[in-house]
Amino acid sequence: MNYHEMHEKEVEQTLNTDFSAGLTEEEAEKRRKKFGFNELDEGEKQSLLLIFFSQFKDFMVLVLLAATLVSGLLGEYIDAIAIIAIIILNSFLGFFQEIRAEKSLSALKELSQPHVHALRNGEWINILSKELVPGDVIKFASGDRIGADVRIIESRSLEVEESALTGESVPVPKTVSAIKNNNLALGDMENMGFMGTMVSRGSGVGVVIGTGMKTAMGQIADLLQNADSVTTPLQRRLEQLGKILIVTALLLTVLVVVIGVLQGNDLYTMVLAGVSLAVAAIPEGLPAIVTIALSLGVQKMIRKNAVVRKLPAVETLGCASVICSDKTGTLTQNKMTVTRAWIGGKTYTVDGTGYEPQGKYYVDEKIVEPTKDKALQQLLTFGMLCNHAEILQKDGEYVLNGDPTEGAILVAGMKAGFTRNQLLNQFTIVNEFPFDSTRKMMSVIVKDPTGRQFVVTKGAPDVLIGQSKSILFENRSTVLGSEQKKVVQEAINGLASQALRTIAVGYKEISANTIILHEREAEKDLVFIGLQGIIDPPRPEVKQAVKECKEAGIKTVMITGDHVITAKAIAKQLGIANNRSKVMEGKELSDLSLNELEDIVEDVSVFARVSPEHKLKIVQAFQNRGHVVAMTGDGVNDAPAIKKANIGIAMGITGTDVAKEASSLVLMDDNFASIKAAIVEGRNIYENIRKFIRYLLASNVGEILVMLFAMLLAMPLPLVPIQILWVNLVTDGLPAMALGLDRPEDNVMKRGPRSPNEGVFSRGLGWKVISRGFLIGVSTILAFMFAYDNNPENLEYAQTVAFITLVLAQLIHVFDCRSEKSILSRNPFGNMYLVWAVISSLVLALVVIYVPFLQEIFHTLPIAMKDWPMIIGFASVPTFLLAGSFLLSKSK
Ligand code: ATP
Repeated sequence: MNYHEMHEKEVEQTLNTDFSAGLTEEEAEKRRKKFGFNELDEGEKQSLLLIFFSQFKDFMVLVLLAATLVSGLLGEYIDAIAIIAIIILNSFLGFFQEIRAEKSLSALKELSQPHVHALRNGEWINILSKELVPGDVIKFASGDRIGADVRIIESRSLEVEESALTGESVPVPKTVSAIKNNNLALGDMENMGFMGTMVSRGSGVGVVIGTGMKTAMGQIADLLQNADSVTTPLQRRLEQLGKILIVTALLLTVLVVVIGVLQGNDLYTMVLAGVSLAVAAIPEGLPAIVTIALSLGVQKMIRKNAVVRKLPAVETLGCASVICSDKTGTLTQNKMTVTRAWIGGKTYTVDGTGYEPQGKYYVDEKIVEPTKDKALQQLLTFGMLCNHAEILQKDGEYVLNGDPTEGAILVAGMKAGFTRNQLLNQFTIVNEFPFDSTRKMMSVIVKDPTGRQFVVTKGAPDVLIGQSKSILFENRSTVLGSEQKKVVQEAINGLASQALRTIAVGYKEISANTIILHEREAEKDLVFIGLQGIIDPPRPEVKQAVKECKEAGIKTVMITGDHVITAKAIAKQLGIANNRSKVMEGKELSDLSLNELEDIVEDVSVFARVSPEHKLKIVQAFQNRGHVVAMTGDGVNDAPAIKKANIGIAMGITGTDVAKEASSLVLMDDNFASIKAAIVEGRNIYENIRKFIRYLLASNVGEILVMLFAMLLAMPLPLVPIQILWVNLVTDGLPAMALGLDRPEDNVMKRGPRSPNEGVFSRGLGWKVISRGFLIGVSTILAFMFAYDNNPENLEYAQTVAFITLVLAQLIHVFDCRSEKSILSRNPFGNMYLVWAVISSLVLALVVIYVPFLQEIFHTLPIAMKDWPMIIGFASVPTFLLAGSFLLSKSK
């Protein structure tokens, strides 16, 4: 028999599980061994061998291989072998870089794996979805993706959107009872939930009946495999640049070969020199180093609690000019405590902190006994009934399981001596309409022991008051006229101006046999009981983070469902708003057209009482004003705005699966300060990429110019091909990578955000590449001429001088690349990776000069001691000149 045809008891027996306690961990482990992980088979992974051979697909490597063939055919075996060795060495470097990038990407995937709430050993715990086994009991709520195929056993207005499976985008209401029909389509199985489908409303509990490939989704999994790798805008621009450089390289090759042959050099040497130059012109290491810099940056961000889901976000982060942040939990701690209550003109204070249910009630500083105050009792107990949170004791501490607002209300009731269990013995919950942030209310329908039925509602006071027709004053309900409304409004404002979050509780009695199916019917004509004022302190680190963002030209905007006055009070505490700042309410937002909003949006610092739907409009308005917008969110309805934002940010703790899937960044600690940390990192990664682009390209320009100058001056070749290859493929790589690991300059957060349209060579980078390259080229050719003049018989010695001068000039210049300003504005040795990389590259170059058998391959000779000062002199000229001109411009 199919699970949808069975009654719950039969399902429980068939799956050999226990709906009230779930599986034990041991049983779950046993079943996992039997059924495997709850995962869909992934497509074939690229084998290591394939990754290695893919290195040879590179255009330049093919050019080199052709050159090797030429040398081989002409009998120049040493050259051929040396070139092959360099290619292999280079391929290994590329191979390891690629594996490393791959690894960090899969580590990222691992981090963003979905979690589910499962019942194990009688406790609800959060586990990875892949650990689910048949028989597990799981719960889900609006915004969650269902982790496996389940038979529904509890439904609270549960509706699931199953379009991923059935193509039907209208959500299906889910029920619990058995459906006796053995020929049902998936879309009609109303008591079943399927892996990968999304809960769009309400909440529910289900028991897992199928996992992994044995789910409905597993059967169509082949269609879903999408392993497309994303590239960032910068990577794409560099790809284009690469293409331009290839064409340039080919032209150069032809030019050099033609000039060389015309000047009497032999064709073979000239072809090889041309090919080597072509290799020199193309920074083949660049794409791999960019990927590594990006993925290392991503890992650094993880350490700061920001998980990048989409690589391009790393770059976009550096351009962010507006951050639209949720208030609760992101700017505040989400540790809520009720500190005030208000009923019919009377204000109570409550003491005690955190979730420990210890505290007393006071009116005018005199203790009151809640059990003797009927109205207070009603406010508190109804607040506890219309509630989902649990306060548990773990290791002597009180911890919350559930929504913090509800936890605070629960604790407020416990301080008065009530417990939810004791209330549930008296009242039966007949139906529930869960909270949603558009309605801003939640209701339950309860039956008391005598069979009387009540609707109990709690929600935002300004909303609830609109749904009430009477109010409790002195324990009696009176009609809620405009006079009373004014009094309540003042009470709400009074609590809100103390930065308290406010919740109102109301109720109405309905006849015992009425069945209410929709919240619209339930949440009207209520009796307004009173208010609870909840403190939710700001996160201590946020104020500083907001300040730093401001200095960095980034505006912080608070977006909240909370009351305007509460929102503004907290925004002021955090430095987001001041007395002059504009605060806009959801209502006003709805009334404005997008164009009208655009005109004023930059003056608004706080959007209050907004619904998630408003967020999209806010993002659009800022974007139309030319801003790059980062937007946070957690619920299902936040997803469109998260998608639309340039950087969509989802909450790691409170965020729903849908919000996370839409986002490009997930905050593991839900903390605003982590957004700032990610922005710092994003800016830094980009700056580091600029640093090594500058280093590699300037080095390449230097190499080309040395060869071109020699050709034009009708001199012999200053570098033999194998030396050019060595400098290009071996010497440059390590220092470039070390630049990718550099720390940010002090001023990264003291200047405005970068324009997203900025080209690779903007802000003077192009000029730096050419001028530095020129200086390196000139000093190398001068060193060569000097050595050659001294001893015209020994060309090989002069070439060695040119080789080592070029290497040294680059290795000195690399320290200049650490700063946008000058080598003098930063301690050049502040990056230890760079120091070690330079030492290694230098040692490698010396090895080529001084180790006898390598001398033969590289056509080098040992440099005499007396020549070192000259070489070092020429090699440091470019950097000295630059430092000098910096000092000069400063003194002006
Ligand atoms: P943010 O959007 O910054 O997270 P928020 O948490 O205040 O802000 P919502 O969760 O939409 O936004 O809450 C809006 C209002 O709804 C709150 O000010 C409160 O009055 C009311 N509210 C919040 N949670 C509940 C709940 N569980 N039950 C009833 N009412 C609630």
